[in-house]
Amino acid sequence: MQTFHSVAGIRTQVARWRAAGERVALVPTMGNLHPGHIDLVDHARELAPRTVVSIFVNPTQFGPREDFGAYPRTLEEDQARLRAAGADALFAPTLEEVYPRGAEQATRVEVPRISDILCGHFRPGHFQGVAQIVAKLFNMVQPDVAVFGEKDRQQLTVVRWMAEDLNIPVQIAGVPTIRDPDGLAMSSRNAYLTPAERAVAATLYRMLSASVDRLRAGERDYAAIERAATEALAAAGFRPEYFRVLRAADFGEPGPSDGKLVVVAAAWLGRARLIDNLVVDLETGRLL
Ligand code: AMP
Repeated sequence: MQTFHSVAGIRTQVARWRAAGERVALVPTMGNLHPGHIDLVDHARELAPRTVVSIFVNPTQFGPREDFGAYPRTLEEDQARLRAAGADALFAPTLEEVYPRGAEQATRVEVPRISDILCGHFRPGHFQGVAQIVAKLFNMVQPDVAVFGEKDRQQLTVVRWMAEDLNIPVQIAGVPTIRDPDGLAMSSRNAYLTPAERAVAATLYRMLSASVDRLRAGERDYAAIERAATEALAAAGFRPEYFRVLRAADFGEPGPSDGKLVVVAAAWLGRARLIDNLVVDLETGRLL
């Protein structure tokens, strides 16, 4: 597996593969890779004969008081993990390569409404930064397919709509969330949890599951479900930002005819901001 730090380098490699008739999959990440990321690589390898993984901690998606500086950077370990997982190339561009005129002066990309609700409300500018870097990565790498985790379901929707709106010829694939045995969604930020916090962290997943059970049982008082979960999280020591039951397709307020609902939450536990979600099909009761 070769590592490329320049756009010209990865482009030349991808162009060679495509000239040989090989489809190329891209897995965008911020590094500090865990089994959830490796599962994305496994999926990518099923979707295309060549897989490129990108690692770039993108400053434009962090707020001024967020953890851009502290975000774990572990390039050598990540390289070893990707080699073992069978990735074909790593694209790890420098800040200067991505934002040569500086991030402040770079062209912005915004998907309206969806970027301003839920995580976008609590992290102003976050999804504008995500849309910007993912649009750039698509143009830099020019993959046929790109693979994203459903753990970040709002991000997945922002990326899908951005690629559609800008007519970028890339297929977007979503991959189910990889969890620890107690249900906690794997995340690089779980490293911020103390052992005592880690012991209660799966309460977030348990409240999502309990809410799905109430929906399956026929309850439609969404506000009551949200309130119960928020109170349980606060009682367990979380600082909840939001806990919502919404329409899965577009995160709108659910109506009586909506068959697929998402239960989506963000909550702080100590220094870690945890997010998670579950989608349920009300007709079959199945998780999607
Ligand atoms: P990140 O490095 O946190 O920006 O994540 C890179 C990609 O990995 C995103 O598409 C995430 O949704 C995905 N991802 C992160 N955690 C998980 C997980 N536990 N299971 C599946 N995908 C994940």
